Amino acid sequence: MREQEHTLIFEESAPGRRGSVLPDLDVEETPVSELIPSEFIREKAPDLPEVSELQLMRHYTSLSTRNYGVDSGFYPLGSCTMKYNPKINEEVAKLDGLTNIHPYQPEEQVQGAMRLMYDLQTSLAEITGMEEVTLQSAAGAQGEWTGLMLIRAYHEANGDTNRTKVIVPDSAHGTNPASAVVAGFETVTVKTDERGLVDLEHLKEVTGEDTAALMLTNPNTLGLFEEDIVEMAEIIHEAGGKLYYDGANSNAILGIARPGDMGFDVVHLNLHKTFTGPHGGGGPGSGPVGVKADLVPFLPKPLLAKTENGYTWDYDRPQAIGRIKPFYGNFGINVRAYSYIRTMGAEGLKRVSELAVINANYLMKRLEPYYEAPYERYCKHEFVLSGKRQKKLGARTLDIAKRLLDYGYHPPTIYFPMNVDECMMIEPTETESKETLDAFAEAMIAIAKEVEKDPEIVQEAPHTTPVARLDETTAARKPVLKYENPDHEKEPARL
Ligand SMILES: *Cc1c(COP(=O)(O)O)cnc(C)c1O
Repeated sequence: MREQEHTLIFEESAPGRRGSVLPDLDVEETPVSELIPSEFIREKAPDLPEVSELQLMRHYTSLSTRNYGVDSGFYPLGSCTMKYNPKINEEVAKLDGLTNIHPYQPEEQVQGAMRLMYDLQTSLAEITGMEEVTLQSAAGAQGEWTGLMLIRAYHEANGDTNRTKVIVPDSAHGTNPASAVVAGFETVTVKTDERGLVDLEHLKEVTGEDTAALMLTNPNTLGLFEEDIVEMAEIIHEAGGKLYYDGANSNAILGIARPGDMGFDVVHLNLHKTFTGPHGGGGPGSGPVGVKADLVPFLPKPLLAKTENGYTWDYDRPQAIGRIKPFYGNFGINVRAYSYIRTMGAEGLKRVSELAVINANYLMKRLEPYYEAPYERYCKHEFVLSGKRQKKLGARTLDIAKRLLDYGYHPPTIYFPMNVDECMMIEPTETESKETLDAFAEAMIAIAKEVEKDPEIVQEAPHTTPVARLDETTAARKPVLKYENPDHEKEPARL
């Protein structure tokens, strides 16, 4: 069906057909050879489609509807916080004074943009309970790496060079151990207990003189609040280590609890998740890092400072770990986060957390009779279910995810965290209505019933999408990006 709707721009091409009309040339023509060095001149004109403006419009409009995003439907991808991106943010980010400036402009000409960055930093420090924030890092993972480099610089400055290990729970986001290794540490895994929380006894066992830091997410990746966080902070601090907070998804704690007050020393935030920056298609993101006072000297330079004469970039920071990104971070995403925080206000941000938590618990309760919920606790902004029961009947979690496509939904995150068998990780976010949550629950329940009666329909899903199951690994490793498929001359490659 979809295939017919999709215009075939190469097939419809006809010589001389045009989408634009230019006036006749009324100046003398300069030969191409005078404009372009001969080695760069093509021998043959490129084989471009010749179509009318309408055909071109249909082509691109058709392509644009092949994507699925938050603006087209429910997107409960756990740990990704696919909340609505308010369009007011786009209006603000488009303002002439914010888009038509250059990072090389003298400071006195861009005081407004610098104030925006300063106020954003200050707000984020307040929200997280930290002393100072840098906006330089371009993503969550880069924030993690930056935070760990700060911890490393701190220990080194104290002559404490034997702290080579970073403790990471087995439920951690995959970027945590990766960042620790890239920052030059070894990782040690701490177990999750039957509550779904960090096993305190095991934490005591693995903490020692070689501990540089504990990296933690709270609420953790199972969507559960680490209620022993104060004790955990004591264990780590007593051993001389630092506490790192992965605040990529802060949707459950905004305005309610602060990592700084829980005992964390470093935190990163994902402005492209919690603070409504759009984050499809690989970016750009923003992963600001906040630190307590004793880590401030190591923050990347330049650091934005406020003086009597206005805002200025402070390069005079001898202990700084250096620069981690050209210029001052992904300014456009930072502007959107600033716009969001100013639109919501402190009360609004608190309301975000309340609604995110209520939405997640509501959906969890609706699904619990049909899918196994491994932890009997209230969740925070997200929750996990296990597809174990369905697997016994022949449909794996992957099949359920594919079947959701037929029902018109983006599937949840699957097979993560890895410590839950046949895991589905569902994060509805605060921006969804009860009607949407109910409709999604109905689809999940319908699939659970299909698995009982007719697992084949689930095993063979999706049935309604333009293409069925893709080889995602090969598609990522060896993408075919040309219209003509090199392996099958003339046969067009379909995405
Ligand atoms: C998304 C996420 C990250 C990584 O953020 P990127 O911006 O994708 O690098 C890290 N930790 C958690 C918990 C996340 O959800």
